[in-house]
Amino acid sequence: MIFGVIGAGQMGAGIAQVAAQSGFEVIVQDIETEFLARGENTTQKSLSRLHEKGKLAETPADILGRIKFTTELQDLAHCDLVVEAVVENEAVKSELFRTLGQIVKPSGILASNTSSIPITSLASASGRPKQFIGMHFMNPVPLMRLVEVIRGHRTSDETAHIVTETAERMGKTPLTCNDFPGFVSNRILMPMLNEAIGCLMEGVADREAIDGIMKLGMNHPMGPLTLADFIGLDTCLSIMEVLHRGLGDDKYRPSPLLRKMVQAGLLGRKSGEGFYKY
Ligand code: NAD
Repeated sequence: MIFGVIGAGQMGAGIAQVAAQSGFEVIVQDIETEFLARGENTTQKSLSRLHEKGKLAETPADILGRIKFTTELQDLAHCDLVVEAVVENEAVKSELFRTLGQIVKPSGILASNTSSIPITSLASASGRPKQFIGMHFMNPVPLMRLVEVIRGHRTSDETAHIVTETAERMGKTPLTCNDFPGFVSNRILMPMLNEAIGCLMEGVADREAIDGIMKLGMNHPMGPLTLADFIGLDTCLSIMEVLHRGLGDDKYRPSPLLRKMVQAGLLGRKSGEGFYKY
């Protein structure tokens, strides 16, 4: 199988790495060579760590040798499956899928790693809705076992079957859901994080107590405020807005404190400060 990845960021680099580790020939595309170099560097470091722990069957060089980096979308023409992992922006993704629908060979499957954009809309933009699906990997991709497989309104059984099998060959556990706002993962996770932010805003408890109660009481590996910082508060806000708009229920209203922190540029780990300082 020739496995295409669009976007060499946090997620794209991880998806490409795991695909190459699974023996696939991989082609990664990004808009600038410097973004490709950054992605390659991330993959290299991750492979070295796994190698040191004795968790790789091959050398990092052998695995990296199966990944080709390019700025040309045309190089994806012969891919059997292309997974898109570019910025979470519907206009950008739609435009990209419009182009991919024309470039990738007719039997190729197109997939999006989106956290919240409707799969059915992206499928329509691609012009091949039966061969379109959501393939939602979790961060960090090399370590997290789940792939949430999201069937669009017109996704064929054959597409779902091939993608599920591919995820299994990548050592992941695919679990399938239908295309509703936030799918399953973010529809359940994000309101919990939003509620934790609401508790902080209302002074129900301080941040350490909120995180500690959920960690110790619910056996979560990380408290909700720490997790929101890890995901990025801008991402959390945009997913809450998708839930609020898409489901039309005020129970999904983003917390005013979440909105204010994003306005202030306090985005969590990636900006150096969110609910905690990094
Ligand atoms: P990122 O910002 O780290 O990487 C995005 C990459 O896409 C960048 O390298 C950028 O140069 C590239 N890019 C942007 N526009 C492009 C285009 N038109 N063509 C080719 N490349 C382009 O973002 P990320 O965190 O890797 O997220 C990517 C996707 O994965 C998003 O849809 C996000 O919602 C989803 N996702 C993220 C996480 C997470 O925890 N970060 C988890 C699951 C899913």
